[in-house]
Order: sequence, then C-alpha cells, then structure tokens
Amino acid sequence: MDETPRRGPATVVELTAQLRRFAEDREWQRFHTPKNLAMALAGEVGELLAELQWLTPDEATLVMADAERGGRVRAEIGDVMIYLTRLADVLGIDLLAAADDKLVEVARRYPADEVRGSAAKRT
Ligand SMILES: [Mg+2]
Repeated sequence: MDETPRRGPATVVELTAQLRRFAEDREWQRFHTPKNLAMALAGEVGELLAELQWLTPDEATLVMADAERGGRVRAEIGDVMIYLTRLADVLGIDLLAAADDKLVEVARRYPADEVRGSAAKRT
C-alpha cells in the first residue's frame, strides 16, 4: 500500500489541470459546457446557502466550531471552488486575473478613505 500522503493542488493552475484531467479521464468534457457548469455552480452555491439558511448571524459566524456542520460547509465550499475553477477553464478565463481585475474596479469605486465603515452601495 502506498504510504505517501496525498498532496493536493497548491495553486489554482494546479487545481485547474487536475480538474481538467479528472474530466478527461472520465470523458466528461462534453458534459462540461459553460451552461452546465454554471448551473452546477449555482446548485452548489445553493447547497452552501442551505447550510447557513436558518442560522442566526451569530450561529453562522461560529459555524466552523461545529465539527459536523462546519464539515458540510467546507465540503460545499470545495464544490463551489471546483465548479468555478472548471467553468473558468472551459471559458478560457484566468480566474485570478479576473478576480484581480474586479478587485481593482471595486477599489476604485470604493476608496477606503471615503467608505470606511459604510456598507452603502455605490454605482
Ligand atoms: Mg455539494
């Protein structure tokens, strides 16, 4: 039996390659259309929301202290990451670059000195 501990992906690039290989090994590429992946992503976000849905804000903040519920939240976060990463790959989107572009845009719209402590929406 192989005693080598399993090493997971260390970067988004590695995760992307791993998920691509996972789909290719199973000949699932034809199912991984942008529409299907976006729907799967939405479904997994729904499963994540369901774990938090009826909690009070304080209970939700402490959700990871509950081993069972926290484990389910962790698993759904993993599902969301998998489908988001796979969708970005199929669409040819650099996930980190896309997130960074958005962060720059949001930072421009919400300068820290002007919005500190305020949750008001700006257009
Ligand atoms: Mg799930």
